[in-house]
Amino acid sequence: MLRFFNTLSRSVEEFHPLEAGKVRMYICGPTVWNFAHIGNFRTFVFGDILRRYLKYKGYAITHVFNLTDVDDRIINEAARKGITIDEFTAPYIQYFWEDFDALGMERPEVTPRATHHIPEMIEIIQKLIDNGKAYESEGSIYYRITSFPEYGKLSKINFSGNIAGGSERIDTDKYEKEDARDFALWKLVGENEEPGWDAPFGRGRPGWHIECSAMSMKYLGETFDIHAGGQDLQFPHHENEIAQSEGATGKLFAKYWIHSEFLKIDDVTMSKSKGNFFTFRDLREQGYSALAIRYLLLSVPTRKQLNFTFEGLQAAESTVERLRNFRQAVSEARCGPGTNPFIDSSVARAGADFEAAMDDDFNTAAALAAIHNLVREINTHMADEMLLERDRALVLNAIKKFDSVFGIFGEQEPQLLDADIEAMIEERQQARRSRNFARSDEIRDQLAEKGIVLEDTKDGVRWRRG
Ligand SMILES: [Zn+2]
Repeated sequence: MLRFFNTLSRSVEEFHPLEAGKVRMYICGPTVWNFAHIGNFRTFVFGDILRRYLKYKGYAITHVFNLTDVDDRIINEAARKGITIDEFTAPYIQYFWEDFDALGMERPEVTPRATHHIPEMIEIIQKLIDNGKAYESEGSIYYRITSFPEYGKLSKINFSGNIAGGSERIDTDKYEKEDARDFALWKLVGENEEPGWDAPFGRGRPGWHIECSAMSMKYLGETFDIHAGGQDLQFPHHENEIAQSEGATGKLFAKYWIHSEFLKIDDVTMSKSKGNFFTFRDLREQGYSALAIRYLLLSVPTRKQLNFTFEGLQAAESTVERLRNFRQAVSEARCGPGTNPFIDSSVARAGADFEAAMDDDFNTAAALAAIHNLVREINTHMADEMLLERDRALVLNAIKKFDSVFGIFGEQEPQLLDADIEAMIEERQQARRSRNFARSDEIRDQLAEKGIVLEDTKDGVRWRRG
């Protein structure tokens, strides 16, 4: 039975989807105004693990993951460059999906863009105006927090001492509001200003929070199962999504809320000003593999802070290499006939431990430990030549199943056959004899690319799969 921490109830709950066998989930995606950083990707990789594990458990998934392609930063940057917001965001959207794919994440079923859902936002805002939960002030539309007594139920922030104009500034909007906590649903935009959209309540552009309410309910219905996102979105973003959605429909918005904790760099919050800010591309440029970055990001359970260090990333690099080599060694092992009953029980125990860990609030660290235990045990059996023919498929199937969730073993590349390798080595020897060193180096490099390591010994050239 899958159990996980629901931010809404502040307790670990059994998971029961609204509709048997189906899960509808929404995860807040990136604002496409620059390259996403590894803290963003930590949340998104968790979203990938979440969807893959729910599939592993047999659920059919509808996963919605939005792109915020209009906000103040985008508008300002586009204006500075003298281009439209669509022209400005297009390359960042492309870079984002390139990074997303490189990190081995499965594409969600629906990936809506905010600017393509303005009519849906206008409809919700109109409902809120009609039922008294929103008001106009100086041409903009605000949500009236006092009209929603449950406000604060997600973040558990006590607002009782917080009066309009009080010392604690919640919102830095410069417009006139009834209450300091009220937030903008629709921001006034002048006749000749861009971007702007016409609405019955005046030309404007949406606030950030209304975007997610509109896109989630359009594709998942007024009530859906899981809403997830980074811890930094819990307040005010998710609190405001609840106020807007439940204020408009009178129904529960999302049943379960999951928040991913922060990623820190060497125990310090990542920030550009501190010079410890990394995008996925920064790490790739330093030579780290996407697979190792993925491994590191998923290795710590999502509700714990992840302390990113380069030592940790280097260790992840070695780990994914070890896993890849392990799968290859099992695939290629010379197995005697029969079956070794110890392997059967190792595989069964690893499967049970893996699932128990993931069912326990997505404890990815314990689930990885189950995989590493299996690897260690099977390596011992292989060293004793006690991996037998019928065991091989058992082990490879177990890896395939674990990897349907984690995606850390890497794609299996087609292998060079021994005969091909030996023919290439022979050609290299001939090139060397005829002092064609350029050709001989070229062949060595081609083999190295395929992971074949050559050693020149006094008995001739030896090779091994590296
Ligand atoms: Zn959102």
